[in-house]
Amino acid sequence: MNNKMRMYIGPYLNKDGTNREYEFYPEALGKGWEPILSQLYDDLVALGWDRHLYQYKEKFGGLRFYIGHGTTPIFERISCAEELSMRTCMECGKPGKRRGNGWILCLCDEHSNEELGIY
Ligand SMILES: [Zn+2]
Repeated sequence: MNNKMRMYIGPYLNKDGTNREYEFYPEALGKGWEPILSQLYDDLVALGWDRHLYQYKEKFGGLRFYIGHGTTPIFERISCAEELSMRTCMECGKPGKRRGNGWILCLCDEHSNEELGIY
């Protein structure tokens, strides 16, 4: 765990008015996306991001990363990570593609799963 990876939960504050802080888990969406999220975090902090994160999740086989305030370079950096995620296997980080019908995940050939209909 990288102790530097701390975030604030969206716009919410503690009762005493301080930011509600929590630890960020870049591996939470899949080991394969961990490097994308770790690098995104570092780059955004370097770009001056205030570390307020509203939500991050996987949707339709791609990363979604929602923040509050940000400059154009910050939002462009997020778009870049989201696009990269749609070409990266969530399981292992190798080149992948979005697969599935209804339930869509981004996986490589090795991790696609015919039984689950994700291939
Ligand atoms: Zn894979």
